[in-house]
Amino acid sequence: MEVYPNRWPEGVEPNGAIAFVDRDGVLNIGSPNYINNPEELILLDGAAETIGDLKRLGFKICIVTNQSAIFRELWDEDRLHEIHNELVRNMLSIDCDAFVDLIVTCPHRQFDRCSCRKPMPGLLYLGDQVLRGNLLLPLTLNKNVPIPKAATNINWWKDKPKPVNALDIMVGDRKSDLGAGWGFGTRLFRVRADIGIIEAKDRLLNPLDTGDVFQPVR
Ligand SMILES: [Mg+2]
Repeated sequence: MEVYPNRWPEGVEPNGAIAFVDRDGVLNIGSPNYINNPEELILLDGAAETIGDLKRLGFKICIVTNQSAIFRELWDEDRLHEIHNELVRNMLSIDCDAFVDLIVTCPHRQFDRCSCRKPMPGLLYLGDQVLRGNLLLPLTLNKNVPIPKAATNINWWKDKPKPVNALDIMVGDRKSDLGAGWGFGTRLFRVRADIGIIEAKDRLLNPLDTGDVFQPVR
């Protein structure tokens, strides 16, 4: 997890909502072989500006990303932080309002059966707790923060949980991203991995857009 200083564009008041954003195929070009170092990180066109627009509307930005390369021991958390520092730096160099507030990463593989690997919603519950709750963390990297219990009790056959904030958003390029957002009750927006977040920009900025229809199990 990476927590960044709470910064807002000048004159902007937080709107209380969080935009949860997948990383690969949404902000940067993804790869079936992982993004393994900062040099491999290439932002998708318009990603930084879209994040900047969301901040200018008052959203907090929480990147939620599965990076099983860590548990596969391809590389470690220090490498992840290098990649994420590059991501944050690149976005700010394009749009000086594109502040990321928090990055939460699931390091596990599918068979580890954790509650944070999307489509489980643990990363969103944790992001909510850090950005809107009373979980006080130092502004440094925080390893192995426990996932809130509520994330493990999702009934995927019932109705979508009520949102914490009706404007909350989850943007991703995969069904697993929508599943995680569903489990936390957010509005859901799917984008194509070769276009990324800008594909949904106008919709994300429209508070009346209720998002994509999605059923996790039916
Ligand atoms: Mg993705």
